[in-house]
Amino acid sequence: MSHSQVYFDNASTTAVDRRVVAAMLPYFTTTFGNAASRAHSFGWAAADAVDNARQQIAALIGADSREIVFTSGATESNNLALKGVVAANSSRGNHLVISATEHQSVTDTARALETAGVSVTTVGVDSQGRLDLDQLVASITDATVLVSVMVANNEVGTVNDLAAIGTICRDRHVLLHTDATQAAGKIPLSVADVDLMSLSAHKIYGPKGVGALYVKREPRVSLTAQMDGGGHERGMRSGTLNVPAIVGFGVAAQIAADELKADAIRVNLLRDQLIEGIRAIAPDSFVNGHAHHRLPGIASVTFPGQDAGRMVGALNDHGIAVSTGSACSSSTLEPSRTLLALGLSEADAKSTLRFSLGRFNTAAEVELVLNVIGELTASRQCAAGRADGEALW
Ligand code: PMP
Repeated sequence: MSHSQVYFDNASTTAVDRRVVAAMLPYFTTTFGNAASRAHSFGWAAADAVDNARQQIAALIGADSREIVFTSGATESNNLALKGVVAANSSRGNHLVISATEHQSVTDTARALETAGVSVTTVGVDSQGRLDLDQLVASITDATVLVSVMVANNEVGTVNDLAAIGTICRDRHVLLHTDATQAAGKIPLSVADVDLMSLSAHKIYGPKGVGALYVKREPRVSLTAQMDGGGHERGMRSGTLNVPAIVGFGVAAQIAADELKADAIRVNLLRDQLIEGIRAIAPDSFVNGHAHHRLPGIASVTFPGQDAGRMVGALNDHGIAVSTGSACSSSTLEPSRTLLALGLSEADAKSTLRFSLGRFNTAAEVELVLNVIGELTASRQCAAGRADGEALW
């Protein structure tokens, strides 16, 4: 199998920006102290670096640095948000609302809570992947303590109307959590409309295994810790902080904030180039998600009649990395929940590829990918007349 040379799977993870790596390095060897060591300068230097990163991350989302709780990634942040809020607010109610297109780290957490006796309502989306606001309003009851709706979807890139969702929740005195893993650093974000927000470093050119949960202070959100121990992170998440990773996360957030607009414009142009090219090659293909309310880099494209798994394999053989859906679910043979929620048939869902472009992609790479898709399409047409009728990709 050839090594992939073109990486169009940035929604799965991103390469760490070299500026981020450079910033992290001293924190492995020279400034290696424990940020919780209060007795000496090694600890103070590490604590200063963590404080600085906390401010950089808070600035990306318009928060106060005291509202940032470091975690091991968005999966943990989502677990902490849902389980922590439900546990801390049990006297107020026992009902959780999520959307139909949430990441597995939200849906499976909700399932776990359901097993433990919490009632869960799943709200649908429209054919472009945006939350159905009427259904949301109808789903909220006196027992609802938390609504969890992602900013932007990881498979189709559709961006929800967070301001409208925030108003609905605020008016009904229900807390709102949002999974901003895919949206942070890609589109402007503010915590004004939400009470909790999950973030992850490795989607914004930072290291893997570090993330954050924003927890609002005014009015204060009560949250029960899910990790017992030394009381780090103001008691919300015990465990020695991963200082180099946190420093990297901070610098990645700072670069994302500084370069957000330029990156978005460039990545969006590449995506347009890719989609126009695919349309010319495969006129029966169609793009999923919202035409305007979407992330700059994600293109979910359905090639009717094709087997997406085979297409991914054929593209990989040509050195091109794409995915069928989210990395977490692409190992299963089940059609994507998200695509089904948008109303795609099972067959079309299984014929869908996700191209996700990022900071380090180029127009030349898009041309290369289009050439390979063109070749594969041509060989498929040749193959159409074969006795077994099997497509080549
Ligand atoms: N939420 C969304 C929307 C994601 O795309 C991902 C990563 N695939 C996660 C949560 C999980 O993030 P992490 O890998 O940091 O646990």
